[in-house]
Amino acid sequence: MKHVITARQLKKSYAGMGQVLKGVDLTVTPGEFVAVMGPSGCGKSTLLHLLGLLHSPDSGSLRMLDTDVLALAADDATMFRRDHVGFILQSNNIFSHTTVYENIEFPLACRAVPRPQRRGLVEAALAAVGLGHKMSAWGNSLSGGEQQRVAIARALVNKPRIVLADEPTGALDNANSRALMESFRHICQRDNVAIVMVTHDSGMARYCHTVYTLEDGVFV
Ligand code: ADP
Ligand code: MG
Repeated sequence: MKHVITARQLKKSYAGMGQVLKGVDLTVTPGEFVAVMGPSGCGKSTLLHLLGLLHSPDSGSLRMLDTDVLALAADDATMFRRDHVGFILQSNNIFSHTTVYENIEFPLACRAVPRPQRRGLVEAALAAVGLGHKMSAWGNSLSGGEQQRVAIARALVNKPRIVLADEPTGALDNANSRALMESFRHICQRDNVAIVMVTHDSGMARYCHTVYTLEDGVFV
């Protein structure tokens, strides 16, 4: 398989607003770390929502992992997302009143992975982000950087082929942001995971293999 994502002429408008995306073309290969840059409000999150099958484009085509994902029925789209796509957001949405272990176990439980198999998967995901020693800590006892690393481990525990990250460093200081970018690069190389990250921070984009800039609804 050559591309994990092939998007052609994606267009999207919201009711009462002009067109936000006016024909975005994007191809992503396995293991590629892609940045989409652009100022606030230019449509970065909108694009990520389309790639995450959370919204449908008005027109255009989208193939992911050799599947015409726009032709999937809603339930099949949900399963596709669950099995192949990991999400990392600016606010990490980890559960604060459960342990780090339980946070990362959650996607495995959703897929009904048998309990005995979960432990090894959770441990491996935590080790990959350098948080093996925090397995029993409560979510709300972690620093912002640690919480974001838990969110990464949770996004990766299902071994997705694609990770979508929306301003993942938006709430982090410089040192934690750089550490997060190093983790992403490592994950792309080691696991051949493709990452599409949207950011308005050019300092983060330099960690990426490919950088696109979204301007007036198209890549320039
Ligand atoms: P970015 O992530 O680059 O800041 P967004 O994709 O969130 O940009 O938003 C692009 C534009 O679309 C903005 O003008 C925003 O106000 C508008 N927008 C986003 N989501 C919605 C929505 N659900 N309904 C109406 N307008 C929206
Ligand atoms: Mg956004």
